[in-house]
Order: sequence, then C-alpha cells, then structure tokens
Amino acid sequence: MDDSRDNRSQGPEILEIAGRRIARGERASLEIPVADLYTHTKLTMPVNVIRSEAPGPVMFISAAVHGDELNGVEIIRRLLRLRQLRRLRGTIIAVPIVNVHGFLRNSRYLPDRRDLNRSFPGSSNGSVAGRLAKVFIDEIVLNADYGIDLHTGAVHRANLPQIRADLSQATVRDMADAFGCPLLIDAPLREGSLREYADRKGVPLLLYEAGEALRFDEFSIRAGVRGVVGVMRHLGMLPARRQASTPAAPVVATDSSWERAPESGILRMLVDLGQHVEAGQVLGYVADPFGETEVAIQAEHAGIVIGRTYLPLAHAGDAIYHVARVKGAEALAARVEQFQEAHEPDDATDRGLSGEPPLV
Ligand SMILES: [Zn+2]
Repeated sequence: MDDSRDNRSQGPEILEIAGRRIARGERASLEIPVADLYTHTKLTMPVNVIRSEAPGPVMFISAAVHGDELNGVEIIRRLLRLRQLRRLRGTIIAVPIVNVHGFLRNSRYLPDRRDLNRSFPGSSNGSVAGRLAKVFIDEIVLNADYGIDLHTGAVHRANLPQIRADLSQATVRDMADAFGCPLLIDAPLREGSLREYADRKGVPLLLYEAGEALRFDEFSIRAGVRGVVGVMRHLGMLPARRQASTPAAPVVATDSSWERAPESGILRMLVDLGQHVEAGQVLGYVADPFGETEVAIQAEHAGIVIGRTYLPLAHAGDAIYHVARVKGAEALAARVEQFQEAHEPDDATDRGLSGEPPLV
C-alpha cells in the first residue's frame, strides 16, 4: 500500500460527484446525465451515496453494466436497506443500473450495439457506449478506493455464484476471500473491461457473477448481499462479526472451458451447477425430436460446473456446460452444496440477513 492509498482510504472531506458536493454524514440521491435518447429525452443514471460521519474508505457497488443482468440490482436494493449501515464507516456509492440504455430494452448491449464492458474508459465524444463508460469512470470509479461489480450469466445461461478477479494482487485477493464464495476464478483482464481499467488506475475491483440474465435468483442474491457485507467488514467499513468464523479459503480455478453440443438437436441435461465431473463423464445428450439418433456430451476434463444453459435446444457448437478446472473438484462440490444450503431460504418465513421474504 502506498501513502496515497492510505490517505484515500479515509475518504475525502467532501465527495464531489457530477457537480454535487456530498459531505461526511450525508446521504444523497443523484441523477447523473448520460448520453440522451434520440427522442430528445434526457437520460440519467441513478446513484445513491451514503457517507458516515466517521472517515473511512469509499467503495462503489455497481450492477447492470450489462443491461439485462438483474440480480445485482436487487442485491444493491437490499444492501441499502440493511440496518447494519447505521454503523457504516466510510462511503458507499451504489449504482444499481449502470447501463441505463440497455436496461430499458432488457438488453445486454447499448443502442450502438456495443458491449459497455468492452468500452472502458470511453470518451466524452464517442458513441453511446463510450460516453456512458466515460461518465461511469469519471464520476464513480475514480471517486472510489474499491469496487464491486455485479453480473449474471447471459439469457438462458446461469452461473454458479463466483468471484472473478485478478488474484495476483494481494488487496484484491483478500477482498475476494472476504466475499465468501467457495470458488474464485483467477481471470485474465480483458481489454476495454471495467476490471482492466480499474486495475490500471489502482482501484481494486471484484466481479461477482451469479445466476441468469433477466431473472431474479434468491440464492444468488442472498450470497451477493452476504458477500458485499463480508468485503465491507474486511475493509473496516462495517464492524467485524463478534465470533469471526474463519471460512475455509476459497478454491481458485485458473482455467475453464465450455463443453459444446456435438450436433444440433434437443438437449437433455444430466448435471447441474456446482456438481463435480470426471473427464469423459456424460453430461447430457443431444437427440433428434424422434429420439432416433442421440449423441452424448462428454466432459473433456475433470472439474466443477460453473455455468450451464437452461434452454434444452442446441445448434451444433452451442456452449452447454462451463467447467472450471480445480484441484479437489469433489471436495469443492461438497462445499458448494453447503454454501447453497447456507444461503437458500428454508421457507417463506426465512428472511435472511436482509430481512426480506424470499423471492420465488
Ligand atoms: Zn455481465
């Protein structure tokens, strides 16, 4: 840690976002102008800032960088309602809907068909994606000491809750451990991604991936709320738990690959998220509609299933199962099951950490 980070981690006296000055102890709702619609309609990005009287780090939490990825929107809503926030030290910058254009259209992309997460850092005279990226960087990322960006799988594709981060950095690794997911993916930085730019600017960033696009998934949401709270505790933004149970260190996957449909056809899937698989194991079958011909989908290597499609239809080459290579996949699968049991509500009366009735 260098000196500048030590200073920054106390947070500024006055935090200025989009021209609004927010003092310690203030809570502010902002509407940050982004690229307008061609209907002459103004479009804004909603941001909520909560600052404690006491100095402390500034962390942003963002969701819907891909406009159809919704679990994070609900994670942030629940987070902002937590009673524990009365004991906050520092500043939360909550941005539940980053890609406002895509969100309006239930789309991952922007109207210029660009992927916002390949458009960072953007520019103020670029196309829609570039402008939005620039606003997000200038007003949110560069005002923060840390960040957590919340994602889901694509449409019809779900991810097992997982953290993706550059684990070679000690600060990032510690945050990832504190999030509490059993599985971390040591993911290379992609050109133009938020992670890559944040990394360049020295803002440690975690990416949480859980669930499926255009769906709420209670397990993914609860694990996400718990994870963000865990990171805030680790950073001293919330008081540590009294009986700090040290969770077992997460397992790191360094490599993963997609098992694809060998033929076009109707899909029968036999393996679910979080299960461990052996090399050569049959994961499912692709058959013609009459059941006359049938081809098995086999695991190329042993590992744990971290992503799957839910659409039982496939063209040859379509990605069906995402399998991560890990050491001790069987033991990890058992831990994933425990993790799931710990976060999945028992019944409609189980309100969990955030005091919310479970969504079904
Ligand atoms: Zn995403």
